[in-house]
Amino acid sequence: MKPQKSILLADAESFYASVETVHDPSLRGKPVAVCGDPALRHGIVLAASKEAKAYGVKTGQPAWECRRLCPEVIFVRPHMSRYLECSLEMTRVFEQFTDRVVPYSIDEQFLDLTGCSRLWGEPREAARRILQQVLERTGIRCRIGLGENPLQAKMACDRFAKKRTDAFFELTGANYAAHVWPLPIGSLFGVGSRMEHHLRRMAVRTIGDLARLPRESLTRRWGVNGRLLWLNAHGIDYSTLQPGKPAPQKGVGHCATLPRDYISRQEIETVLLELTAEVCYRARALGKMGTTVHAYCRGADFDRPSGFSRQQKLPEPAAALSAVYPTVQQLFRRHWDGRPVRALGISLSGLADRHCYQLSLFNRRELTDSLSAAVDQVRERYGPTALFQAASLTQGGQLFARANMIGGHSR
Ligand SMILES: [Mg+2]
Repeated sequence: MKPQKSILLADAESFYASVETVHDPSLRGKPVAVCGDPALRHGIVLAASKEAKAYGVKTGQPAWECRRLCPEVIFVRPHMSRYLECSLEMTRVFEQFTDRVVPYSIDEQFLDLTGCSRLWGEPREAARRILQQVLERTGIRCRIGLGENPLQAKMACDRFAKKRTDAFFELTGANYAAHVWPLPIGSLFGVGSRMEHHLRRMAVRTIGDLARLPRESLTRRWGVNGRLLWLNAHGIDYSTLQPGKPAPQKGVGHCATLPRDYISRQEIETVLLELTAEVCYRARALGKMGTTVHAYCRGADFDRPSGFSRQQKLPEPAAALSAVYPTVQQLFRRHWDGRPVRALGISLSGLADRHCYQLSLFNRRELTDSLSAAVDQVRERYGPTALFQAASLTQGGQLFARANMIGGHSR
């Protein structure tokens, strides 16, 4: 029999707000909200300190609502590079305890401590030490959920450890139902607000209600997702943590969720052009070109999923915008059903070395290559908005909105 696994999920408390407080100790003990740009209507709270949360401030709230709930709130602009640095420092602490560390998000990381009890004591004791070390090295408080698989660890952390004074909770196959089943259905991992709505209409109010439904009825209704929800409700998770270096890159891709639903072909194609430019730039930065382009389009209606995900081989390997975009446009025009679009994505795969290509008598490849090289030089020196396709200035263009962001947030 295989030994029982000990999987930990460590989650940083109010991560962005905590990092800002470490950076500026005068913020300590005060209601702090990290927020895009509070002056703009679309300023959204990205994180709130626990003092701000006590007023009802939540991640995702608009700045004005946050100010209404808590007039003395202190808005701080986000600094993504600080958060990345702090997240890496946390990884370094975790790696002192195990070589099996898998980041899940910027402020959540899985640790596999299976078989480490001789070194660090029982998992509860190891967790205590880890929390202590992270606090000493970074000033950040974490919470740890322990489970026999990643799902149990995640549920233990999100639903229990966050509310405990010792910031720790353990779920096992044996106690999962007793602790988790009484919780409302919306608190199950994988259940979003739409799914919660559907389930409540089926009289599923608690996680236990879902767990007691026959698995087949969920699979019939939602396919793989239904099966996954049923497994989640039972605390079963067959996935394994895959630590180590990411696999060598097989493709480069980029996607965008649109700020509103797009219905005009011209607007959508503007974003496709921007995404293609970005993907080509990334491929060139790796010294690669792609042989196949993949376009993805998701419709705006959740209940009646629409959109497509199609790929096509390029006439010849390429990493220049002018060579890749026509294929993207072709894919889109062929497969788009004309319904509103919420998200778009482009990727290049089958990456080949950029400097091995077939010379052609009919197109002057050196010319497009030197144009690309000149564009890249300008971009590296002056940033992504120094030189761009004029279409980005038209309605629908997302280049400027996205240029100042890392992973969807400002730098
Ligand atoms: Mg967190």
